[in-house]
Amino acid sequence: MVPQFRYQLLKAVDTTPEDKVEYQGEAIDDNLLRQLQLLFGYLELSERHAASAKALCFAFKDYDGTPTKTGEQKDSQEFLNIFFERIESLLKPTSQCDLLKDVFAGNLCSQLICQSCGAVRNKIELFYNLSLQVKGSTGIYDSLAKMVKGQTIEDYMCEGCNQKVDVTKRSLLADMPNVLIVHLQRIVFSFDTLANDKVNSRFEFPRVLDMKEYSYKEVTKGEAKDEDLQELLEVQDDEYVYRLAGVNVHVGTADHGHYYSIINTKRGASEPQGDVDEATWRKVEADPWKVFNDATVSSFNFERDLKSESFGGDGEQNNTASDAMSDAELTAFLSSGTQSYGKSAYMLIYERMSKKGLHEAAAGGESVEVGFRQVEKFVPDWIAEQVHADNKSFLVDSQLFDEQFFGLLY
Ligand SMILES: [Zn+2]
Repeated sequence: MVPQFRYQLLKAVDTTPEDKVEYQGEAIDDNLLRQLQLLFGYLELSERHAASAKALCFAFKDYDGTPTKTGEQKDSQEFLNIFFERIESLLKPTSQCDLLKDVFAGNLCSQLICQSCGAVRNKIELFYNLSLQVKGSTGIYDSLAKMVKGQTIEDYMCEGCNQKVDVTKRSLLADMPNVLIVHLQRIVFSFDTLANDKVNSRFEFPRVLDMKEYSYKEVTKGEAKDEDLQELLEVQDDEYVYRLAGVNVHVGTADHGHYYSIINTKRGASEPQGDVDEATWRKVEADPWKVFNDATVSSFNFERDLKSESFGGDGEQNNTASDAMSDAELTAFLSSGTQSYGKSAYMLIYERMSKKGLHEAAAGGESVEVGFRQVEKFVPDWIAEQVHADNKSFLVDSQLFDEQFFGLLY
């Protein structure tokens, strides 16, 4: 739920002809970008309490061309990566060709440092989500510290001293996105069981995240620098400061489970401006938070429930779900309300205090910059008309229902 992303994406015009395919009694336009736009349009304008993602799931195909199987558990990071890849290629010919990069992309500086001669090899790596290790870490800062500290790789051929040596491999934050998606590595392959396991240990994350300490600029202080990376030294401190905007929770085991989201709904134009009123901007807990769970939206007591809902941990006894459970046993367990194993944050969404502008391709190969906070609500006519027609039939249906209801009463 990033309003600026939604409205900008709704501005893209996909000119490929409509491709109506009959699916489960409905004629669906088999175009992923238009289906995503339609879903965003419904979420914006529909009178119904929820919008259906059926057509979107149909248009989003696996590598072999089969529609998304909604009954199968998918890893949400894997899903997001493939989804972004598809959307990015569909946006390429439109005015919004840079949208995904402008909103979500950051860079890591991956370094190999020779422990013998000190030679450093830098590699800039683009990311759309920052994937952090949970196993053995107590929280985001601990995990970032380990990422920056790095690990030793033996027998590496160093070009500096021309011999096989031990090198340190570490990753530093280079430049950061407007909206940071953090992936928590809770599903990991176990060499004991030769299957995926879920790590549900306690992993803490702050409301306001300041990552300056883990940046290229800070970590390499006093070290020799690569001239090509000069611009990374000019990144401002506030470009590493973020506020929590959303938490994607996974309940269950590595194989079975369910996702839902806890979202700060004070977003877009109503988000406080950090550079103007930092105190309000930092008070994330004062914002209206809601839980989005399938078709149900309910309010969320952030102060009271965030930790128990999303930090994970072993919790009380007798609350361990296991992969040995059958689907029915797991469903019963999950609905018993006593579980804490398996309930923990899987993806985190953070919004940066200082925002970079977004770019729109204009006629003649020009690029126009749009201020992140200046993005306005937009729904194209073709979608608005469709949603309004649906609203009309929905309202007529509800009135009809009321009449029958009153007919029964009197
Ligand atoms: Zn060396």
